[in-house]
Amino acid sequence: MTKRHPATVVARAGIAEDPTFGAVTPPIYLTSTYELNAFRQPGPYDYSRSNNPTRDVLGDALAELEGGAKAIVTNTGMSACLLALQLLKPEDTLVFPHDCYGGSYRLFINLAQRKQAFKIQIINFQDDNWPTQVHAAKPAMIWLETPSNPLLQITDIRAVCQLASVIGAKVVVDNTFLSPVLQQPLALGADIVVHSTTKFINGHSDIIGGALITKDLAVGDELKWWGNCLGLTGGALDAYLTLRGLRTLNLRMQKQQENTASIVSFLAAHPLVAKVFYPGLPSHPGHAIAKAQQNGFGAICSFELNAPSDYLHDFFAGLSYFTLAQSLGGTESLICHPASMTHASMDAAAQQRAGISATLVRLSVGIEECTDLVADLTHAFEQVTLRLAK
Ligand SMILES: *Cc1c(COP(=O)(O)O)cnc(C)c1O
Repeated sequence: MTKRHPATVVARAGIAEDPTFGAVTPPIYLTSTYELNAFRQPGPYDYSRSNNPTRDVLGDALAELEGGAKAIVTNTGMSACLLALQLLKPEDTLVFPHDCYGGSYRLFINLAQRKQAFKIQIINFQDDNWPTQVHAAKPAMIWLETPSNPLLQITDIRAVCQLASVIGAKVVVDNTFLSPVLQQPLALGADIVVHSTTKFINGHSDIIGGALITKDLAVGDELKWWGNCLGLTGGALDAYLTLRGLRTLNLRMQKQQENTASIVSFLAAHPLVAKVFYPGLPSHPGHAIAKAQQNGFGAICSFELNAPSDYLHDFFAGLSYFTLAQSLGGTESLICHPASMTHASMDAAAQQRAGISATLVRLSVGIEECTDLVADLTHAFEQVTLRLAK
């Protein structure tokens, strides 16, 4: 069959494929184990840690969306990261960006330093000489996250993959921030994609989950074996909810991006905003690469308040539609203060190196009516103005 459009993949995943009763919606197989056909005659499924039909429907859809050979659905995004690391041996080096997700950063550092599971080298891919640094590290695996969190910095996936193929390194891309609808790293040369499905893929902020997709079937089989061995696979009910969330991924992404573009224009023109970070802005240093490797600029943006950081209290208190909470990618708009929330585990020096200032605010824009969201932000900025005038 010809390649299906992502909108069709998400709407049709597992639809009308039930051989038993013809259920249009894929059934939720809440079972830990499966009956054998007869003595020494196993059926297609044996135990749900290894395989579950509901989880398989989600995995197949994610593999198709990312253009991969195999997907492993995991119980958290961190499990998907941990699974990819099973390819490394103690003598191997993992290269990862200085501004990757905090939980990934913690995992890499602690596995390397406390378990000697592998060696690590942290690289700033915004440095002009990143290729020299990568070459010198002789990595077995390169980890990328683009756009980065919370400053939305862009890394050229194609350029990194070209270098990786020369030096024989595998490239893993954490594609959580964009989802396969907006970026397909395997088509750009990556070997593995990981997701926190908690975010855009599920999109409803009601489960924690993850997925890993491989370009190569043999690598997928090996990691599937590890997923079962280590017990990292996801539950059937979570898989069902994620599949239900996935149905609207395209629609949600469209609306959330549209809202984000309007909010970014509003923020860029506001006197109480010192700086806006969004790859859709032509002034963003990664704009051209983002335009080339993404199908859109995403629904996350951040900005610096043009007032001392203690005024953030007034700003946050003045909001009704942006909920002050971590996480991102849901239908509801969220707002967070990276320095004290998502990136609190970084010390002040590390935050400064990563460019995370005390006045930085990150938005995850939902599907609410945009004029309401802009009115909400306007009201919150007015609270800051009122106190500044006192
Ligand atoms: C949230 C997140 C993770 C971790 O996923 P969990 O589902 O919370 O375990 C990994 N990478 C990125 C980019 C994330 O945003």
